[in-house]
Amino acid sequence: MKVLILGGTTEARALAGALADQGRFAVTLSLAGRTANPLPQPVPVRSGGFGGVEGLAAFLRDDKIGALVDATHPYAATISANAASAAARANVPLIALRRAAWAKTGGDQWIEVASTGEAVEALGPVPRRVFLALGRKEIEPFATAPEHTYLVRSVDPVDPPLSVPHAIYLTARGPFSEADDRALLERHRIDVVVSKNSGGAASYGKIAAARALHLPVIMLTRPALPQVESVDTVGEVMAWLDHASASAATRGV
Ligand code: NAP
Repeated sequence: MKVLILGGTTEARALAGALADQGRFAVTLSLAGRTANPLPQPVPVRSGGFGGVEGLAAFLRDDKIGALVDATHPYAATISANAASAAARANVPLIALRRAAWAKTGGDQWIEVASTGEAVEALGPVPRRVFLALGRKEIEPFATAPEHTYLVRSVDPVDPPLSVPHAIYLTARGPFSEADDRALLERHRIDVVVSKNSGGAASYGKIAAARALHLPVIMLTRPALPQVESVDTVGEVMAWLDHASASAATRGV
């Protein structure tokens, strides 16, 4: 059975690797094509948008995809909505692999906001030293608050840079440990962190480090995602795929 994984996450890569090892499925991993030097993947990759719901539905039909796995990032809401609509339209079974969100624990000082605009407001008028652990596309609203100093960490360089007088840029790809992130926050005398609630271990270091240093975290709440069958482990997707391929065989698909 042909399986299309919508990826761009650690989990998608892990799932692709596990399926490649089994050798029972013909797997293609789809990336949005945003990263200049994506990590090598264990299965064939296609890159770039499909052209909305219509384009994805046509891809599913034309490539005779037997099952679709939405393993995109929890903040990639458009592609997840498109996946739900396109799978329904093309009559292809869909499962979402979604990491559980981080839960606030004792000592966390989270200020939850619904957008990057609200995150800018939450910084307040007094100049602060801000760690922006957000993607390149998401940091632009912070240019409206040039009184703060920003430390920006992203996978690819921020180009053009933020138009503010005080910004430091780091390019790095996770995982990031708590110890390294704590050292980073201390070295740059950061007093507030802005983060998405990505879930998972790879980017939790800064959250644990902020807690240890008694720093507030302005946390962007997750966007609404379509109501589809969802699991949070690679193993559960594998079990679901076994079931999907057995029922496809029964139906003679
Ligand atoms: P998005 O806003 O939901 O998607 C925007 C458009 O990008 C989609 O409509 C689709 O274009 C294309 N697209 C997104 N993911 C794709 C995929 N896996 N394969 C093919 N096309 C894709 O998504 P985003 O926030 O820009 O994220 C893009 C990718 O980066 C995702 O794959 C996601 O897993 C990964 N990522 C995102 C974040 C984040 O915070 N958003 C963090 C880490 C990794 P068409 O409509 O033309 O098909």
